[in-house]
Amino acid sequence: MSDRYCVIGNPIAHSKSPQIHAAYALQTGQDLAYERCLAPLDGFEATVRRLVAEGYRGANVTLPFKLEAARLATRLAPRARAAGAVNTLIFADGEIVGDNTDGPGLVADIVRNAGVPLGGKRILLLGAGGAARGALLPLLEEHPRQIVIANRTLATAEKLVADFADHADRLAVTGFADVEGSFDVVVNATSASLAADVPPVPPAVFGPGVLALDMMYGAQPTVFMAFAASHGASVRDGLGMLVEQAAEAFLLWRGVRPDTAPVMASMRQS
Ligand code: NDP
Repeated sequence: MSDRYCVIGNPIAHSKSPQIHAAYALQTGQDLAYERCLAPLDGFEATVRRLVAEGYRGANVTLPFKLEAARLATRLAPRARAAGAVNTLIFADGEIVGDNTDGPGLVADIVRNAGVPLGGKRILLLGAGGAARGALLPLLEEHPRQIVIANRTLATAEKLVADFADHADRLAVTGFADVEGSFDVVVNATSASLAADVPPVPPAVFGPGVLALDMMYGAQPTVFMAFAASHGASVRDGLGMLVEQAAEAFLLWRGVRPDTAPVMASMRQS
């Protein structure tokens, strides 16, 4: 029987992960099956225990279970511990290992796919929720000059920076309207686009030469992308990040990193 994996969430019907992992398996010749798994809102732990008992080899975790997955893991990779959130579980040798590939996926999409190196750059990170938390350590590991974190609720951004005290010299916190200066890269890690909202940062942050990436994706460019593009920025949505985080998870499970470019192209078409 093929090795089994799944993505656990609630809701989960919209997830594109089965399509992505099926393409990776085909491309790399790995014998695996990957499906969607709807967990009851109060039943994440029971779902994971059932999967382990049934012999699954691992799982991805999406909303709203990423924090619970970090608590449930018997061992955490350093980047998952830093994020306080887990999007990839590995079931092996009686352990539930938790890792987080969202941040590495974001960095791979910016550096490799968009061709924008982050060393010495100034980054504006909008949002301080789970996705921003997961992105922070992988972004810092690229050695940017500074990361400014702006969030609607200032206290949440302050808590995030306090949790990364070792990097305090390269981190700053501000409200949206008080963002100052120019940036090389602006990452929208808020869920504002879901409500067709744009974080009210000064339009001047989106000049020519700026890469503006919205972690959200859809058939149409998000309102954030439209706003940033109208002020001169190059824009990207979160599809590349999604495809890249899946490749990182695939690497953790199977020891082989798939080529993301053809999968990205076919996802974009569909
Ligand atoms: P969380 O719920 O953990 O955090 C939401 C964040 O958005 C908070 O900072 C919140 O601010 C802010 N926010 C929410 N609504 C608004 C608004 N109307 N205006 C301004 N700020 C707002 O969500 P996640 O961090 O898990 O996810 C954030 C986004 O990233 C989602 O759109 C998600 O789909 C996307 N994502 C994409 C991935 C990909 O692979 N492409 C992977 C992971 C996430 P406050 O603190 O004030 O509440």
